[in-house]
Amino acid sequence: MKPAICAVCGKFGSFEGDSIEFADYKPLPKDFDGHPEGFECFCNDHLEAARALAHLPSREAITLLRGQFDYPLDGPREPEPHCPQCSQRNWSHHDLAGQNELRGKVSWIAGRIAWIGYGVFLVGVLFFNLPWFQIYTLICLGALIAIIPAYFLAKRLESAIESQIHLCKSCGYVANGSQYAGALQQEEDGRAHTSNATIMT
Ligand SMILES: [Zn+2]
Ligand SMILES: [Zn+2]
Repeated sequence: MKPAICAVCGKFGSFEGDSIEFADYKPLPKDFDGHPEGFECFCNDHLEAARALAHLPSREAITLLRGQFDYPLDGPREPEPHCPQCSQRNWSHHDLAGQNELRGKVSWIAGRIAWIGYGVFLVGVLFFNLPWFQIYTLICLGALIAIIPAYFLAKRLESAIESQIHLCKSCGYVANGSQYAGALQQEEDGRAHTSNATIMT
C-alpha cells in the first residue's frame, strides 16, 4: 500500500485523516502487496469534500478536489505562500537564466577556494614536521587567514544571487526568491503555531 499521502494537498506521514474507496475501487488479490486502484488517503482538511465525491472514479474525484481547493492538477502541490498584496495563492515561477549561470560560477569558485584552503593546510602541516621549514608553515597559516574568509564571502555571495522570481498571477505582485521563501517560512511557522495551540486545548 502507498504510504499515507493526502491525494489533494500531498501532506505526508502521520496526519489525521482517513482513506476512501472510490467507485473504481478494486481490492487487491489476497497476499498481494501493492496499492489498490480507486483507494486514496485524505487529510482531515480534505476528507469531507472527498467523501462527497466517493461515487466518482478516483482520478476524476481528485481532479475536481484539487480544482476546488486550488491545488495544481498535475500532482500534490509544493507549498505556496499567500500573496502579500492580494492574499491569493496563484503564483507563476520564473527562472532567471543568466542569474542561475552566475550562481553556478560563484558556487564553483567557492568550491575551488575550499580545495585550495585544504591543500594549503596539508602543505603547512607537512612543512611543520620538517626542520627549518617552520617559516613555510607560517606562510601557509597566513594564506589560510586570507582563504577562509574568502570562502565564506563566496558562499554568501552565492546565496545572495536571486535565481528565481515569483509572479502573482492575480495581481501582478513580484516577489524575489528570498521574499517568497520568507513568506512561505512565516506561513509555515504560523501553521505550526496553530496546530500546537489545537493540541493544547
Ligand atoms: Zn489534504
Ligand atoms: Zn497578488
